[in-house]
Amino acid sequence: SSAPQSVHVVFIPLLAQGHMIPLVDMARIFASRGAVATIYTTPVNARRFRTTVNRSSKLGMPIRLVEIPFPCEEVGLPIGYENLDILPSPELLTKFYNGMGKLQEPIEKHLREQTPAPSCIISDKYIFWSSETAQRFGIPRFVFHAMCCFSVLSAHNVKHFNCSDSITSDLEPFEVPGMPKGFKITKAQLPGNSVRQQDFEVFRGKIQEAEMAAQGVVLNSFDELENGCIKAYQKAIGKRVWCVGPVSLCNKDESDMFQRGNEASSDAEKCMAWLDSMKPRSVIYVCLGSLCRLAPSQLMELGRGLGASQQPFVWVIRRGEGDSELENLLMEERFEERVKGRGIVIRGWAPQVAILSHQAIGGFLTHCGWNSTLEGVCSALPMVTWPLFSEQFVNEALVVDILGIGVRVGVKVPVRWGEERKNVILVREDEIARAIDALVSEDEEGKERRKRAAELGEKARRAMQEGGSSQSEVSRVLQYIMAGPTQEAV
Ligand code: UDP
Repeated sequence: SSAPQSVHVVFIPLLAQGHMIPLVDMARIFASRGAVATIYTTPVNARRFRTTVNRSSKLGMPIRLVEIPFPCEEVGLPIGYENLDILPSPELLTKFYNGMGKLQEPIEKHLREQTPAPSCIISDKYIFWSSETAQRFGIPRFVFHAMCCFSVLSAHNVKHFNCSDSITSDLEPFEVPGMPKGFKITKAQLPGNSVRQQDFEVFRGKIQEAEMAAQGVVLNSFDELENGCIKAYQKAIGKRVWCVGPVSLCNKDESDMFQRGNEASSDAEKCMAWLDSMKPRSVIYVCLGSLCRLAPSQLMELGRGLGASQQPFVWVIRRGEGDSELENLLMEERFEERVKGRGIVIRGWAPQVAILSHQAIGGFLTHCGWNSTLEGVCSALPMVTWPLFSEQFVNEALVVDILGIGVRVGVKVPVRWGEERKNVILVREDEIARAIDALVSEDEEGKERRKRAAELGEKARRAMQEGGSSQSEVSRVLQYIMAGPTQEAV
């Protein structure tokens, strides 16, 4: 079913790549179903999505990408600091939150002038003030978590059952009540541990309050992947949880895949051409997300691991401080010379979905950020897992222990925000090479893993097709918006 043109869904993403990218895709999905979609963001962020949004609009999807200036000066941030492209220090994070709070008034002013009037807000969990905005307009607000339901539920249950209190050891894996069998996590790996609690205290309460006031939850995931967690979470919170993904699958043509988020590095074209020359399913794609910059010594260790494994690879290295130190190390060890013909380095932003969709890619070394994980699933890839922080260890457990499509490099504890560049080696070269070799192995385990990944990729695709679970959920969200909550019982 499609929505009449009077349904107007407003999207307010958190200003970070891993949060904006999926929400912009989601807006395009709702627009493709006939709703009017408005996305509020700031000029620097709008620039990254303008081309894609315009292309969708030309295809008849009514999307409004609205720029609200970000008050950097007013809150004491450097000019242009409009997104979390890099993990911020606690001080910067607080200022950044203050800056985002200042978007509320101009957004509400703009909204008041819109026709059709807004009918619903889908906003990031962290945009807590949008709850108030929704109340002012008398419309529902749905919370968007940039996570899977599995990890949202695990966080809920850890808290609900007071798991942390009863566990004394930091490194002893324990089970969480109400989670699928086989799920274990350690206290050290719980999401809260990577951010220093006190830095966040001011906002934590407001975020929770707004979450409780929300009418529903929208996630970028799909039913067949969640192992019963959607129903369980709905029951736990007493409201609807809609999984409408994998949203990245709305990018069907090459140019959309190529332009998600930042502008692709100039190395990207070369990489795509090189991939064309490689055997199907032979190359490992290595990328640790948009936020984290690891210490040069740790990155070099990763490089050596890639060198030691005999597998062809594409390695994405984020730009950031310490570039020259890493470049020196790479030069000293004649890295690119040694892996010539077998490995490609992309410095800067990679067109990740375009690369993962290339038939030459056969595996993904990922930090288990939820978007990356799901994009790997969509491309039917087995994964080497190297979680860094937040809920990434939970995603790792889902990928390895529940879905059976991953091999751990074996990290025990998260990187703490603000300390990620410390010169400690978290993972050794031989562990990296070992995990990659296991991933591509022709033994029974390796074959089974690839088979499961292929099946899951197929399920992901089906979920987004006509009659698929996620496609139907979009219809249900639209129905809810049009008819109100009475239509459907939880
Ligand atoms: N991404 C990309 N190119 C890069 C790095 C990341 O396109 O070089 C995209 C990736 O496809 C994903 C998002 O950025 O959609 C990162 O989100 P994720 O949840 O994986 O991790 P985060 O960056 O939030 O840690």
